[in-house]
Amino acid sequence: MADFRAELGDIPVEDHPRIVQQRSRDHYWYSPVLKAKLDHVTAEIVVSPRNNEEVKTILAAAYKHGIAITPRGAGTGNYGQAMPLSGGAMLNLMLMDQVLEIKPDRVRAQAGAILEQIDHQTRAAVGGELRFHPSTYRMASLGGFIAGGSGGVGSVRWGGLRNLGSILGLKVITCEAVPRELDLTGEDILKVAHAYGTNGIIVEAEMPLTTSYDWVDMIVGFDDFMEACRFGQAVALQDGLLVKEVSPCAAPIPEAYFNRHKSYIKPGQSVVLLMVAPVAVDAMELFVSHQKGEMLYRSDRASEEELKRLPPVYELAWNHTTLRALKVDPDITYLQTRYPSVAHVEKIVGLLGDELPMHIEITRQDGIVTFAGLPLVRYTTEARLEEIIAIHEANGCDVFNPHRYTLEEGGMKRTDRKQLAFKQEADPKGMLNPGKMIAWNDPDFDFNAGRAWLFDGLNPVGAT
Ligand code: FAD
Repeated sequence: MADFRAELGDIPVEDHPRIVQQRSRDHYWYSPVLKAKLDHVTAEIVVSPRNNEEVKTILAAAYKHGIAITPRGAGTGNYGQAMPLSGGAMLNLMLMDQVLEIKPDRVRAQAGAILEQIDHQTRAAVGGELRFHPSTYRMASLGGFIAGGSGGVGSVRWGGLRNLGSILGLKVITCEAVPRELDLTGEDILKVAHAYGTNGIIVEAEMPLTTSYDWVDMIVGFDDFMEACRFGQAVALQDGLLVKEVSPCAAPIPEAYFNRHKSYIKPGQSVVLLMVAPVAVDAMELFVSHQKGEMLYRSDRASEEELKRLPPVYELAWNHTTLRALKVDPDITYLQTRYPSVAHVEKIVGLLGDELPMHIEITRQDGIVTFAGLPLVRYTTEARLEEIIAIHEANGCDVFNPHRYTLEEGGMKRTDRKQLAFKQEADPKGMLNPGKMIAWNDPDFDFNAGRAWLFDGLNPVGAT
């Protein structure tokens, strides 16, 4: 480590153990399973480059001295993606936060730019905003979203990051004796997107923009959760109703966990959270009455005092639903699922009842309105969690297990050959975020054997 540090010149380095430990954490603790496995994990130092040249200096030194590098944005990832399993150095990208270029239909920014800050600038410059963002919009970095996220608020209209056209270009720096700067476009982007920073450090990204609106938050109440689900689907299918967010949440979630909105929620009701373009507000009000929903809250009718007190509706949605539940009930955890139809949602709700308070995000995938699930789970044991997953799979519902820290197990349970091939080229010594890509460490691992993979290097002191 001393040899590595000696090559860093005046690049800011933090080595106070308590601060380093704080920066070695993301939201892995959302999962009781990951919490037990990863609590002890920490890096030895945090390095904070200010420009691409400094990133290259750091990566060249890491390659030369065999130091593990874990990139980090805001650390809001919630599968332990940014946990430094082999110790070494955290690479904090948050000082590289500039918006570099804004055009009417696109923006180019550095990896450490915060998503909300990007939108502030694009709104002012061209009346545009990012097509979709995670509910951690006010904290998350662009690079962290691309490397660790998938979609979010706006995905009901625009799909997710993996869809062609959602990312226009990436500038990536490799970890080699002489690091290279590579500009990736087209399908090459998918080599690095959602690879947890295992095969290159993203330093810049170009993203498409769409017209920005002063979105109106709405909360619509239903006595029956399946009615709420059908309403959510119907909203997303209405081509004339411009919406950015549609999320049905089953009772008792709203009443029990949406503390600051409690006065608007009726006991026992399920809700649908909506973000609606001003131009569609009147039509939405009509649609709600046609579908027998009850308008509980509209931000355009709220007082200034209410608006100050209440978080935006998207901070009740996506993984914020889990966060709000966890604050009230520390035994709550969650799953990430996909229900092919409303009938699948109904089946799972019927089988698991209040053990799995249901939370759906309506999204669009390849033009089809789908039910992405982020159901809460009243956690008892890891074995029961596995049973709940098995019940989903036996009923034709996909589970993307958020209780695993590897790319493969958290996703489609198979190797992404393109990402693996790119790692061989861009990180030949395997210094980038070790332990997150099973295919790199254990190419013969059997994903169907029914056991979780354990990274050999996961040890209490961190390897250097
Ligand atoms: P980090 O957590 O710092 O990093 C994420 C991953 O990317 C890590 O593997 C890290 O090593 C890697 N990385 C970071 N920067 C770079 C870089 N420059 N180059 C290469 N690799 C890099 N996610 C969604 O997709 N949609 C949601 O709606 C959503 N809602 C959330 C709500 C809550 C309350 C929480 C806690 C999480 C949520 N997430 C969601 C997960 C996460 O917040 C987002 O994916 C977010 O965009 C991550 O950004 P970050 O800057 O915090 O990344």
